[in-house]
Amino acid sequence: MPDTTISRLSDQSVNTLKGVGPAVADKLAKLKIRSLQDVLFHLPIRYEDRTRITPIGHMRPGFSGLIEASVHDAQVQFGKRRSLRVRVSDPSGLITLRFYHFGANLRAQLLPGTTIRAWGEARRGASGLEIYHPEMKIISSSDVAPPLDDRLSPIYGTTDGLHQATWKKLTDQALRHLQSQAVDELIPSDYLSSELPSLSSALMMIHRPEPGMPLSSFVDGTHPAVQRLALEELVAHHLSLINLRQTYRERASIPILTDGALAASLLAQLPFKPTEAQTRVSGEIANDLARPEAMLRLVQGDVGSGKTLVAACAAAHVIERGYQVVIMAPTEILAEQHYQSFREWFEPLGVQVSWLVSKLSAKQKRDTLAGIETGAIQLIVGTHAVFQNDVNYSNLAFVVIDEQHRFGVDQRLALRNKGVNGAPHQLVMTATPIPRTLAMTAYADLDVSVIDELPPGRTPIQTVVISNSRRDDVVERVRANCLQGRQAYWVCTLIDESEAVEAEAAEEIAQSLTAVLPELSIGLVHGRLKADEKADIMQRFNQNEIHLLVATTVIEVGVNVPNATVMVIENAERLGLAQLHQLRGRVGRGSDESYCVLLYSPPLSNTAKSRLSTMRETTDGFLIAERDLELRGAGELLGTRQTGDAAFKIARLDRDQLLLATAKYVAESLYQDNKPAVRELIHRWLAGKEKFANA
Ligand code: ADP
Ligand code: MG
Repeated sequence: MPDTTISRLSDQSVNTLKGVGPAVADKLAKLKIRSLQDVLFHLPIRYEDRTRITPIGHMRPGFSGLIEASVHDAQVQFGKRRSLRVRVSDPSGLITLRFYHFGANLRAQLLPGTTIRAWGEARRGASGLEIYHPEMKIISSSDVAPPLDDRLSPIYGTTDGLHQATWKKLTDQALRHLQSQAVDELIPSDYLSSELPSLSSALMMIHRPEPGMPLSSFVDGTHPAVQRLALEELVAHHLSLINLRQTYRERASIPILTDGALAASLLAQLPFKPTEAQTRVSGEIANDLARPEAMLRLVQGDVGSGKTLVAACAAAHVIERGYQVVIMAPTEILAEQHYQSFREWFEPLGVQVSWLVSKLSAKQKRDTLAGIETGAIQLIVGTHAVFQNDVNYSNLAFVVIDEQHRFGVDQRLALRNKGVNGAPHQLVMTATPIPRTLAMTAYADLDVSVIDELPPGRTPIQTVVISNSRRDDVVERVRANCLQGRQAYWVCTLIDESEAVEAEAAEEIAQSLTAVLPELSIGLVHGRLKADEKADIMQRFNQNEIHLLVATTVIEVGVNVPNATVMVIENAERLGLAQLHQLRGRVGRGSDESYCVLLYSPPLSNTAKSRLSTMRETTDGFLIAERDLELRGAGELLGTRQTGDAAFKIARLDRDQLLLATAKYVAESLYQDNKPAVRELIHRWLAGKEKFANA
């Protein structure tokens, strides 16, 4: 019974629902579901369409459907695992149902000619298209076939021990409450098109689609209920980022006022001039640094655009004023490389540079920590180690985070107590450009600068796509290249495999290449090596003692060896565009012409084909990001970390691009005039995820 004395669904505990005892309540709490409103905002993650029979001939790998078919044969098979293989067909085709757990009587029931209905996802299996463990019903010929569902079935994201049936009961009850007590509308109606349903009816439609409503209108997001909820979710997401940004920025920081003398001396000793884009972005950063609030700025720049130098100039300003600077890299390989660049640039200027990584000896580490604490060390390069509890800065004022897609929003925020007098200024650098529409949402908590120009004199990389059957040609190309004094990478990729399996595969490839290329010195790096072993190999590659470097994707980010001019990528068809672009960016860093060879094993899927041809057609990271967005969708593109662990419940950044501008506008005006609505929206959509915003 709805309790009329309590007016808001957000105040009513889930404990008032039937079937919610302490055990269920605990499980719900794990999902941050405490009130009836929370139940309502636990939206279905997808729908199953059992409203119609799919002809077997229309089933495709990855596609779930309901089939009605007649049994050919049912056989127990003894492979790696014992299984029951049931071949069934309808007039349009044949498919195999496979069971790994089955009772003796199941096989007995499945006599040839028996009619069955089965629901499940088709996959490519040992005998062509297969469905593993379908939900199956036997419809003997005498029975009347049971009716099909009249509406889509919602499927809820869940946790151990909470079944879909439980979700059905919980949402049924919460929806009944919703009929007498609407959820609060927090977005002023002037912002909502009159075609959109009220929030309450949108929730109703999403949880219980009306009979006959096609799945496509949910998937493509054209349904007004989807639009209504997606808009609100985008607003909430945007608000949480604005909140983060405010929280950080309101922290006082040290204003860095300089005439840039140290940066000028740094530039004067370089053999080249900064590009116009580098100069412009350096100016934007210097302006931020001069302010008393903490800077939070992102520099986007394609691979090789010279982000490191921009960071170094900013560091010079801060060091000139007598404060400490930290450069944080995601891997030890990168930290080492930065350590070398910054030493080369800063030591001649009398600046003390040091580094903090796990391979330091106990004594080195002690000395470094002491130097950081006294302030003798002015510039510290390192991995996450730079922010362990044992590191006490004397007067830290500036942090550079390189290749930030490996750091999350919350980690960024955690730095705010590390500064000498409030939060340190932060500069975040990423080589993974993202399309503008997305940047608006993903980086709402950062100001963005773009280095949209490469240093002059780079010869564009030639990219070729070559089938594995022509591997020998590729080996010859590598041989010729290295015998001319240049170097090459050979990257082995195994997606979804463990580091151990990946390392093993790389070892095998290194061995076979050593056998066919005896005149070359070949090195191997993979994730299982110790940090100092990795660093040692990178060092030898850097000095051209190793000609050909066989590597797993540990090499992906940031490595800079300008003499390397050939990049071979194995199984390129398995990698996403962003990763391929990153890998390719390891070559083309000097003035010699570079090649990228994308090796693939046929046959190629259509998406793999488009990815590889995109790579062949362009080296422009922004264009590649746009294509990536079309091919993969925004969720995957951004990953969850970059969006502050806020995986969207219903919004899809690519699909809902038209809503983004409205969402931004609504969020900004709510933030100005209606703080209670801001809190409530964030809570409603991001409960438990905004912890770091008010920590
Ligand atoms: P990324 O933006 O990918 O991090 P880096 O900062 O590693 O790129 O720079 C790539 C290479 O370009 C380095 O060897 C760097 O010294 C060089 N470089 C940077 N700026 C310029 C410039 N203005 N002119 C010529 N070379 C430059
Ligand atoms: Mg870099």
